[in-house]
Amino acid sequence: MAPVIDITEARTHVLDRCPPLAPRDLPFRQAIGTVLAAPVHALEDVPPFANSAVDGYAVVASSIASPPTELPVVGEVAAGASTDRVLQPGEAIRIMTGAPVPSGADAVVMVEDTERLEGGDRVRIHRSIEPGVAVRAAGDDVRVGTELYGPGTLVTPAVAAVLASVNAAVVSVVPKVRVAVLSTGDELVDDGRPLAPGQIRESNRTMLVGLVRDAGCEAVDYGIVRDDEAALEAVLRSAAAECDAIVTSGGVSMGDYDVVKAVLSQIADMRWMQIAIKPAKPFAFGLLSSANGRQVPVFGLPGNPVSSLVSFELLARPALRQMAGVLHPQRPTVQAVAVDGLPRRPDGKIHYMRVFAEFGDDGRVQVRSIGAQGSHQLAATSMANAIAEVPDGDGVEPGGPVRTLLLWVA
Ligand code: AMP
Ligand code: MG
Repeated sequence: MAPVIDITEARTHVLDRCPPLAPRDLPFRQAIGTVLAAPVHALEDVPPFANSAVDGYAVVASSIASPPTELPVVGEVAAGASTDRVLQPGEAIRIMTGAPVPSGADAVVMVEDTERLEGGDRVRIHRSIEPGVAVRAAGDDVRVGTELYGPGTLVTPAVAAVLASVNAAVVSVVPKVRVAVLSTGDELVDDGRPLAPGQIRESNRTMLVGLVRDAGCEAVDYGIVRDDEAALEAVLRSAAAECDAIVTSGGVSMGDYDVVKAVLSQIADMRWMQIAIKPAKPFAFGLLSSANGRQVPVFGLPGNPVSSLVSFELLARPALRQMAGVLHPQRPTVQAVAVDGLPRRPDGKIHYMRVFAEFGDDGRVQVRSIGAQGSHQLAATSMANAIAEVPDGDGVEPGGPVRTLLLWVA
């Protein structure tokens, strides 16, 4: 049997073998949710011309220095239009938000500080303003040529909008990682039929497909594969041809029907790990050569639902995010307060206890156990939003500190 290793060694082994996918050019709209593979430089100034920040009157600031001032309105300019009229001192041009500031003007007085006089060809201005007021200079947001984003930047909706604003039509990104998800086991049923003796309802796949998506990847559902070596090999080979990574659940322990172990041992370069953690002690990782010559990472998660979740979080998720080009692929951790304590017994393992985390009145994160911690008790774990890392020993005293991975915090 493989020696028991610690979680850091297991994670390093996995991360070292899951480099980012090769970059691809994508139109900026399709790039949301991906990570940039190359720097992006601004191709244009934003805004492209000096324009008005308000609806009002373009003026020369010095001509309204002693309010109230009455000026002739010599023109009008709307957003999307422009004017050739050069504004002279002592004149005003009606201007709308986003319209180009006419040459000669150096400020815009907002309409709320003005009164259009009868007939409409004059305006009374009730205040003075400094030159530059309400004028948004060309390049005020982005200067042409500057490096906007470095490699590793996540393309958020706002980043994609900036790409649109500088006309960066196509960007080089790490493509979305396509992840095959499959469950193994003769006992599994997923079609709602009455359970025959020994059968259970399949649940891990639903969870893992969701976790894969939540990690920013595309999940491809390969269904349930029976405990049959030929069937499993066929599915694994097509998954390797079609996807960038494979996540399996079940069949990686010491049972006689653990076919995932039997098949992957023959067709892939695997490491069968026993990790000093609870839950999720057994874990398999390896590389499967695809028909098209790629090395496809395979994550063999245990079948017990809680173990499946925890080993996905600790090992598969960071690796998949690294493949997606994310620079810091691990979940954020905080030093939380274990309000009621997190007792345990020494056994040489780190316990990853599922907890509910929330902010206390003092602004610190407080965690409480969600209750049942058995590796088959997913119902209790499903109420957790964080995982507390309780080192070997007698656990954490009430009010004591505990390092906690945040999955989400309300
Ligand atoms: P295994 O890792 O295949 O030995 O399975 C360990 C335990 O997890 C057994 O009780 C299985 O019935 C259960 N299990 C395995 N796969 C699934 C699944 N996809 N959904 C729900 N339970 C499962
Ligand atoms: Mg099984």
